Amino acid sequence: MTGSTLDLVRESYRAISLYAPDRAPCAIDLSDNTNLWGVPPSADAAIRQVAQPSITRYPPLYAAELKAALAAYAGVAPENVVTGCGSDDVLDSAIRAFAEPGDAIAYPEPSFAMIPLFARMNGLEGVAVRLTPELDIDAEGLLATKARVIYVCSPNNPTGTSTSRPAMEAVIAGTSGIVILDEAYAEFGNDTWVSEAPSHGRLLVVRTMSKAFGLAGLRIGYAVGDPAIVAEVEKSRGPYKVSRMGELAALAALGNDLDWVRARIADVHEKRDRLRRELMALGLSSIPSDANFVLVPMPDALAIARRMRTLGVAVRPFSGLAGIGDALRITIGPWSQMQPALDALRECLCS
Ligand SMILES: *Cc1c(COP(=O)(O)O)cnc(C)c1O
Repeated sequence: MTGSTLDLVRESYRAISLYAPDRAPCAIDLSDNTNLWGVPPSADAAIRQVAQPSITRYPPLYAAELKAALAAYAGVAPENVVTGCGSDDVLDSAIRAFAEPGDAIAYPEPSFAMIPLFARMNGLEGVAVRLTPELDIDAEGLLATKARVIYVCSPNNPTGTSTSRPAMEAVIAGTSGIVILDEAYAEFGNDTWVSEAPSHGRLLVVRTMSKAFGLAGLRIGYAVGDPAIVAEVEKSRGPYKVSRMGELAALAALGNDLDWVRARIADVHEKRDRLRRELMALGLSSIPSDANFVLVPMPDALAIARRMRTLGVAVRPFSGLAGIGDALRITIGPWSQMQPALDALRECLCS
């Protein structure tokens, strides 16, 4: 960037860099926790039948039809739901809706890499609070920040671990701000706050169709909470954020593909257990996971991931995670993708 261009940029934006993990195409891509079994069948059919007006005209302003279907899926009322262009958009909109520039947002560390970025883009001060040694959230530490917004992710990316009920209850009871609970991986775990969210005035549960539902490319996210909270997020998000094509595919999936999704979740559980056993046989212990990925602590994870790429397998490396150190995050998929990943990993460990 030239000096003159820099002068045009918001001061607080200068230190922000593009979120751009290595996404070069790779034969087997286990780097982003998407559904490696593919698109749910009814959603796939719906996309192929999209009629012209759905493309030439604007989509519904706030995706009312989709809200109703998501509400039924989550066990809440339509006025408890707000949608967005992926849950990233919903998270960003929620942060903007509830905090003024200069306010603080507290989040666990390690957790979702986008949150510190959204904090800076919205002029907030991000405060990281280490997970406990058991990898639960540190409720007291989060509350001690007195932050206007507290973000929690459960199951947590990248550890795969779930937040305990008592810690979550303590955060909700102890803050005077808003609690954003990111449940991007809730379908793979065994706990959710989604149906209770409307009864906790300050809890917003954020969900996505990018992971269990296999629709990451269509960008469908949503959040559930008290109608007054949800209405503020909707204002902040703005109109037309869900494309008509995305809405039609999501409606088809919610209407007809729930059994397919459940079967893929069972596949994830089975392959996840098997992968963890095979990793153990390589001398690698992984963190017990409630998500569709496992985190495998190991030294030199960046170099190992680079070498695995040359063998046609992409995984997500992390360096120096708080309390964990270097680690590889591996998305769970069909065994036809897990076995090559294990083979590549074995080769890289030996070289
Ligand atoms: C993948 C992911 C999301 C983002 O999902 P989109 O709906 O595709 O934007 C949100 N939170 C966490 C923790 C994720 O891992």
